Amino acid sequence: MIEILNPSEVARAKDTGALVADILQTVKSRTAVGTNLLDIDQWTKAMILEAGAESCYVDYEPSFGRGPFGHYICTSVNDAVLHGLPYDYTLADGDLLSLDLAVSLGGVAADSAISFVVGESKPPESVALINATERALKAGIAAAGPGARTGDISHAIGSVLREAGYSINTEFGGHGIGSTMHQDPHVSNTGRPGRGYKLRPGLLLALEPWVMADTAELVTDADGWTLRSATGCRTAHSEHTIAITENGAEILTLPKHTRP
Ligand code: MG
Ligand code: MG
Repeated sequence: MIEILNPSEVARAKDTGALVADILQTVKSRTAVGTNLLDIDQWTKAMILEAGAESCYVDYEPSFGRGPFGHYICTSVNDAVLHGLPYDYTLADGDLLSLDLAVSLGGVAADSAISFVVGESKPPESVALINATERALKAGIAAAGPGARTGDISHAIGSVLREAGYSINTEFGGHGIGSTMHQDPHVSNTGRPGRGYKLRPGLLLALEPWVMADTAELVTDADGWTLRSATGCRTAHSEHTIAITENGAEILTLPKHTRP
């Protein structure tokens, strides 16, 4: 189903998006060498509850996962890229951490992901992966202008990732979002311009380029949730929720210091 939100629902989505961005930035600022993934999960839970919001994850039980997720944020480390189930792991210098968070506030959901390297060392391969997903996300958002179609976004994202030298997995990608976290239309991370669903004001999309350094193949961890690169290589993921307006896309999950 594709939902088109009315202006008051879009206004509420902005509040949800700001909350998601603020939680991610707070978690990022607190995370250091020695932080445990379960601490990150508890910080997130506390911030969601304090805001009077609801987790989209804790009771989430999709066809591909094993039982309810049971946690409040996805923490994917190094070769883990999507749906990282928090576990008793202490972060080390140079770990590449991807955080993915979706919450619902006032009946409207928002979804965002960030990737960063923990500690002082900045491995060039990890920095390149993160930069590629951030640039691809920016290009995808720029392609979501008036009259655009989902294929224009997919093409823009895929072009950046391919030019950066990565192959693209099409099993998971962007999606519509609104009263629930995952809705149509699907927005693949590669595609043909001019194809797909024509964007309309009031549509919310979560765009989420992700890459693996030397493969497009995923394997599922023994935890039944975490998706890892088949080769054990490093990975990165960036995601924003955007609202389609008459004039183009508005990013709802910008960090506070970068909001207009
Ligand atoms: Mg997400
Ligand atoms: Mg998403």
